[in-house]
Formats: sequence, structure tokens, C-alpha cells
Amino acid sequence: LVVLDQVNKRFGDHHVLRDVDLSVRRGEVVVIIGPSGAGKSTLCRAINRLETIDSGTILIDGTPLPEEGRQLARLRAEVGMVFQSFNLFAHKTVLENVVLGQVHVLKKSRADAEKKAYELLERVGIGGQAAKFPAQLSGGQQQRVAIARALAMEPKVLLFDEPTSALDPEMVNEVLEVMTALAREGMTMVVVTHEMGFARRAADRVVFMADGEIVEQNAPDDFFGTPRSERAKSFLAKIL
Ligand code: ATP
Ligand code: MG
Repeated sequence: LVVLDQVNKRFGDHHVLRDVDLSVRRGEVVVIIGPSGAGKSTLCRAINRLETIDSGTILIDGTPLPEEGRQLARLRAEVGMVFQSFNLFAHKTVLENVVLGQVHVLKKSRADAEKKAYELLERVGIGGQAAKFPAQLSGGQQQRVAIARALAMEPKVLLFDEPTSALDPEMVNEVLEVMTALAREGMTMVVVTHEMGFARRAADRVVFMADGEIVEQNAPDDFFGTPRSERAKSFLAKIL
């Protein structure tokens, strides 16, 4: 569903993605881990074309990423993204946050969009909060709104870039539970996270990145049980 072939990205002299090959099958959950500066966020942003690449190709469901405006909005509906910092529209209610893209990008009627929004808010466990503004919610609730907003676009794949890193510890689990449920339901997901419990529980595959490269990738039990590279071993020794 998502195929990266020999993707390279430089910021000036800094080579942040080096010959990255990665493919994610439909329904697969891929967790990306690695040290700070490894290029994990850049990789996610490239898949969503929030970042351009210098060489290589990225295909979503067989189609190269589009270059221009209107098609980009479509792409970002197909490839949903959930950020560390939620990125909700602060001056819109929770309901509006989930409705807007459906009306403007998917061209749904307001009534259909609201119906879907209520369903999704219920599904992520915040059905009662629809009329509030983001600032009136806890971080965990805001992040669940962000997930509902992404789901409302009926994405083919959802990207998560450290979705729980900005949350107080007691709110991490409520977000991970929603993500685990999505994984079980067959959503295709690429998740950058430091939550190794989630990786073990929900990932089909763990991808370890360092210095812009995919150093190794394996099923979670194998990766955590017997990491092959020295870099993965020393990374795991530090975080586990
Ligand atoms: P972290 O775990 O800290 O989030 P990461 O693996 O997500 O790290 P990236 O954010 O992808 O790493 O950054 C990879 C490298 O690219 C870093 O060295 C960073 O400083 C650099 N970089 C990222 N974005 C830019 C930018 N817009 N301009 C210049 N350099 C950048
Ligand atoms: Mg990052």
C-alpha cells in the first residue's frame, strides 16, 4: 500500500534519509523506532508530502505522490497524520474539527459529516465532548479528537509521529488503547513511538532507523529478543 524506493532527503549538507526502502502492506502496523535525529519524522512527513524528497519514489496504493494543490489535499485525506502536538483548529469546536475536512475535501453534506463525526467521537471515547473547544479538553482527549479527525477522511493509511510524547503519563494509555483497537480492526498504520509496550502488542513489524538509514526491521518478538545490529542493541539497552 505504501512503497518507498531508494528515498533520499538532504537538508543542506545533512543527509537525513539515505536510500530508504520501505513497504507497508494493507492492514499492516509498522512501528518506527530509533534515536533522536534518525529521520523518523522526516520519513513520515515525506510519506504525507509535508516534506519533499530529493530522489527516489514514494507510491501510495500504486500512485506516486502528487505535486500540486488540489491533489495534495486528497492525498492528505488518504494518508492521515496524527502529530505529537495534536494540531487541532483551536478556534473550532471538537465537532467542527472532525466535520470540516469531510465537507471541504470529501464534499460530504454537513448532515452526513456530522453523523460520521459523532460516530467517530463515540468510537474514540469522547462522545460527550463534541461542543467543547480543544483547549477545554485534556491532552489525551485532544489527541483522540485528532485521531477521529484523521479517521473521518477514511484514510488508506494513518501515520502517527510520537502521538503520546506530549501527554502526561496518565493519558498515554487512553490514546494507545484507541490506536491498538484501530490496529486490531485492520487499519494500515505507520507509528513513530517510544512506547515499546505498544510496539510489542500492536506492531506487525518494527523498523529501527539511525542516521537516516533503516538499520534493521523484524517482527517485534525477534527485534526485541535478538536485535542484530550493534546500533539497535545499544539503543534498546538505553531505553528498555
Ligand atoms: P526525534 O526523535 O528527535 O523526533 P527524528 O528521528 O524524528 O528525531 P527528524 O526530525 O526526522 O528526526 O530529523 C532528522 C534530522 O534532520 C535531524 O538532524 C534534524 O535536525 C534535521 N532536520 C529536520 N527537519 C529539518 C529542517 N526543516 N531543516 C533542517 N534540518 C532539519
Ligand atoms: Mg521526530
